[in-house]
Parts: sequence; C-alpha cells; structure tokens
Amino acid sequence: MRLLVVEDEEDLVDALRVGLVRAGYAVDVAYDVADAEEKLHVNEYDLVLLDLNLPSGDGFELCRAVRQGGGGQSTRIIMVTARDRLEDRVRGLDEGADDYLVKPFAFPELLARVRALLRRDAAGGTAVLEVGELRLDTARVEAFRSGHQLSLTPKEFGVLHYLMTRPGHVVSSEELLEHVWDEHTDPFTNTVRVTVGNLRRKLGTEGMIETVISRGYRLKERV
Ligand code: CA
Repeated sequence: MRLLVVEDEEDLVDALRVGLVRAGYAVDVAYDVADAEEKLHVNEYDLVLLDLNLPSGDGFELCRAVRQGGGGQSTRIIMVTARDRLEDRVRGLDEGADDYLVKPFAFPELLARVRALLRRDAAGGTAVLEVGELRLDTARVEAFRSGHQLSLTPKEFGVLHYLMTRPGHVVSSEELLEHVWDEHTDPFTNTVRVTVGNLRRKLGTEGMIETVISRGYRLKERV
C-alpha cells in the first residue's frame, strides 16, 4: 500500500517515513501544497496523511480537491494537526477526511488508524488477512503459509498484501508498481517481475500467483 505524507516539519517527516516503511508501506513525501497537488495528480495513493498547517496553502482545501478530483474517491485521508478545536475536527470530517489525529500523537496509534482505514475495503475487517493457506498479519508485518512463517522482504510483503486484498482479481504490473513502490522507482524497471518471482519461490509454488498473459497477476482464491 502506498502512502503520501503531506507535512512540512522535516523531523516529523523523517520519523514517519522510517516508521511507515518499517511497517511495510511505500511512502512518498510532499512538503507543501503545490508539491502535494502534483503528486496526487500523478500517482494513485491508498492513503494520505495530511497536515493542516502547511506553507503556501490550506490542508482543508487540499482535502476538498482530492475528493472532487475524480480519481481520489478511494483514497483514504487522515488529517494530522496540532489544531484540536472541535470545529476544526468537524470541518475536517465534513471536507471528506476519513479520520483526524491531533498532534502530538503516539506512532502506534497512527499505525493502527492507517491499518483500520486501509482494510475498510477488504473483507474481514481485522488486521489479519486470510486467503486459502495464506495468512497475513498486517499489524505485526508477518506472513504465513499453512502456519509456517515466510521470510519476506518489505516489497514481497507489499505485493502479497496488495494481492490478498484482491483475491481472484487480475492486478497489472503497473498497478503493483503504483501501490507498492514509491516515487523513486524507475517506471521501466523489471522490479515487479523480479519481486513476484521471488515471492512465488518463497511461497513454495508457482501456481498460487498466476500470470495472466498481457494483463498481470492473479492470486488464486482457493489454493
Ligand atoms: Ca505543519
């Protein structure tokens, strides 16, 4: 899953990036409104952490722009701000934010809220995803097949996570690149193919993740 952190405090950005990457997410950063608008236009994010007090603009307006901008309907938004007045929280939710977190906050709480929002679309509604013999604990960042823990890299975990939220559906390489890798990735790289290959090897079978010729990959619902 790919996140955009919109925040101008560099220390906070660094801490968030380290923590979120460790939790298995691809993370892009925008330090001001213009930068955020451009990245939201170019990329499709699963979730945006949006600071309200930004130089050169207002987070409320950015939130509204995401909601009105067609493609941003499925993007989750958490407003993160030092403003703790009731009217700001109400306005944030009215502008289309899915959640609202007041600074200072504890990082584990932020992570729990991110997980909760990202699994809203997925069946089950807990931090643990299960498809056939596969089990993915998104809170602990652990993956299992038939009870045996798999030793996955963050990208392998990210690919498996994305596929497990869409079992039986074909997911293209471009979609995986968009949702599992960050902005520093060369779009012409073969990293998706290599990562899927390694993931298949670690799953112990080629057939669990099918290749659908010229369309992408599909995780079998029953394995
Ligand atoms: Ca700020």
